[in-house]
Amino acid sequence: TDYILEVKHLKKYFPIKNGPLRNNQGAVKAVDDVSFTIQRGTTMGLVGESGCGKSTTGRTILRLMDKTDGEVLFNGKEVYSLNKKELRNLRTKMQIIFQDPYSSLSPRLPIGEIIGEAVKEHNLVPKEEHEEHLNKIMASCGLQPYHKDRYPHEFSGGQRQRICIARALALDPEFIVCDEPVSALDVSIQAQIINLLEDLQKEYGLTYLFISHDLSVVEHICDTVGVMYLGGLVETGSTEDIFSNPLHPYTKALFSAIPIPDPNAKIERIVLKGSIPSPANPPEGCKFHTRCNQCMEICKTKVPDVKEMGNGHMVKCHLFN
Ligand code: SF4
Ligand code: MG
Repeated sequence: TDYILEVKHLKKYFPIKNGPLRNNQGAVKAVDDVSFTIQRGTTMGLVGESGCGKSTTGRTILRLMDKTDGEVLFNGKEVYSLNKKELRNLRTKMQIIFQDPYSSLSPRLPIGEIIGEAVKEHNLVPKEEHEEHLNKIMASCGLQPYHKDRYPHEFSGGQRQRICIARALALDPEFIVCDEPVSALDVSIQAQIINLLEDLQKEYGLTYLFISHDLSVVEHICDTVGVMYLGGLVETGSTEDIFSNPLHPYTKALFSAIPIPDPNAKIERIVLKGSIPSPANPPEGCKFHTRCNQCMEICKTKVPDVKEMGNGHMVKCHLFN
């Protein structure tokens, strides 16, 4: 299989107080032993409640923050052991787009410069082809090339997200982390941006890690899905398997909250007890045991193994161990 990304036992701990980590005591375990792979040209969704470590996972993969432990292989190469030149190249091949397009756009630059800035910096296209490159990228993103001289505030939220996407796309990336890319947009605009991302994936052969708490968007756009709880992946698999046959009690609870269009369909709403424990002091054993309605004695002390249930469907729960 052609994996563009392989994440192995990735950990990202933050010290609680200022100062260095001492044996990781008292650290916030934002990402705690996360492993998954993404096949080239596909979209993997990362879901889970806010604070579960989705964004930190995305940023650590891109080396926007340092990892604590584990491996991130991009096209077979460990991104944390690249030399300066390789890292520079990686900075164009892996991109990220954020939830709030406005805060990541400089208000003082016309959008042509915003989109083209890093292209020039990395000398990606010859000077005489720069304009043409910009025009093509902007057109691909549904932006009018004659808008190049306008400023971000002159655009709507949806158009600003198009500008951010164009800025990422202009660098000829292979992989884009989309961190809640439509959450801040009007529902009417969301579908347009989702469609744009899908069109660009086909046109440019892109691979996405799509971070979202919106399960219906994830079901629509993702080929595979990973479910995170308290810094760890509890279940991964094809979108079809995860949505039609969720196995982990947390996934079941999370998915039971999706509003379903058919009022006659019977889905029992599972309400989780308690609140999410602090990632600085996660429960022993299965991290979900304090809220699980199927918790057994063993769950309180032993971390469950990850089990393959067929077709790449992985679940981390004692019910399947
Ligand atoms: Fe629930 Fe135990 Fe499975 Fe954890 S391991 S999800 S506590 S049944
Ligand atoms: Mg987030």
